Amino acid sequence: MEPFPTQLFENTEVAFSGKSNKELTRSYYLFKLIANPTLVKVGKVATETAIRLGIPIGWAIKGTIFKQFCGGETIAECASATAALSKAGIGTILDYSVEGKESEADFDATCEETLATLRASQGKADIPFCVFKVTGIARFALLEKVNAQQALTTEEEAAWQRVIHRVDAICALAVQVDTPIFIDAEDSWIQDAIDQLADAMMEKYNTRKAIVYNTIQLYRHDRLDFLHQSHQRAVERNYFCGFKLVRGAYMEKESARAQSMQYRDPIQPSKAACDQDFDAALLYCVTHRDRISICCGSHNENSNLYLARLMQENKISPNDTRFYFAQLYGMSDHISYNLAHLGFNVAKYVPYGPIKEVIPYLIRRAMENTSVKGQTGRELSLILKEKARRGL
Ligand SMILES: Cc1cc2nc3c(=O)[nH]c(=O)nc-3n(C[C@H](O)[C@H](O)[C@H](O)COP(=O)(O)OP(=O)(O)OC[C@H]3O[C@@H](n4cnc5c(N)ncnc54)[C@H](O)[C@@H]3O)c2cc1C
Repeated sequence: MEPFPTQLFENTEVAFSGKSNKELTRSYYLFKLIANPTLVKVGKVATETAIRLGIPIGWAIKGTIFKQFCGGETIAECASATAALSKAGIGTILDYSVEGKESEADFDATCEETLATLRASQGKADIPFCVFKVTGIARFALLEKVNAQQALTTEEEAAWQRVIHRVDAICALAVQVDTPIFIDAEDSWIQDAIDQLADAMMEKYNTRKAIVYNTIQLYRHDRLDFLHQSHQRAVERNYFCGFKLVRGAYMEKESARAQSMQYRDPIQPSKAACDQDFDAALLYCVTHRDRISICCGSHNENSNLYLARLMQENKISPNDTRFYFAQLYGMSDHISYNLAHLGFNVAKYVPYGPIKEVIPYLIRRAMENTSVKGQTGRELSLILKEKARRGL
């Protein structure tokens, strides 16, 4: 069999098969708008100010950027996005994208919402994973203290036990409903605490297969080693590993903190080094697939192609459930739809939550899609190619 060609993702008919002409045109204008970095900067300040002043702007956001990047305000509202993705053989990962909460009541509510996504996934092939962030259910300052191995006060120790209890409740339900759960990776100065939780949950719950997945950020220079150690630990203690491999979302913040606090930057010396470790991690996981299951969380065409080719070379069936590809809703549909079309397991993070609460997420998507970072150029040219093909 011929290796998959480099143009694997260029079929725009498949890539946009889920979009009507009207939807395609709406995406075109939206990406064109956010391609302008000045407009995005002004829009960010205006939106934040409007929210602070209580000016109702939800209606303007809901029909535009929210519709592009989010599934709805509630789990129920995501049903149509899930159905549309499912039609193309793509799964939904319901991602409750409310951030920055700090009270115990909020942590309980977010934990409850994650449990609700797991219940919604039960018996549904089109919701193959659920996900949560530890900062959604734990105080950031507490995670920093645990990470630094500082002594906790009695009150803090009780709060930490509540965090462990919430994480355990989520992972236990994941086992019960048989839906694997991703634990997202976050800032390096709380990641050891998150890894500690993730390793403990993998050991407890991944006894027959990978149900709990930790996330490995390959933009860090120490994470390939961490992946090897994490796997070694699983071999020694006899459990299965689940890993979501990503490059990492907080690069500027990481480097800025390292510089201001004068410690070694945890980020790789170059993008090439990051890409090299990402591919090495894919190869390692494919090689050790007797014990490791992975999700390749990336919008990088080369990385996705590399994994598809590795699977092909190793005669791994595209629908082997130990291998998944995932992208974010509203982005890189050419990768998701074309991989699914070839029979690979693909899912998309479908963020949801009250409009006001998901605005930080939307601002990040807009910032990452400005022409400066280059993503939009690719999205726009693909949409233009498809518009031309449809004669629009
Ligand atoms: C399904 C899914 C789940 C995700 N989960 C998480 C998560 O749990 N935690 C998290 O942090 N992120 C997560 N992400 C975000 C992910 O990290 C970003 O989408 C990713 O960084 C963008 O990289 P890319 O693989 O799409 O490829 P590219 O667009 O090729 O790479 C861009 C990335 O490369 C890295 N990079 C760029 N320049 C340099 C440089 N000079 N040196 C070193 N590295 C560099 C940065 O990470 C940058 O974001 C997730 C993404 C997806 C699709």
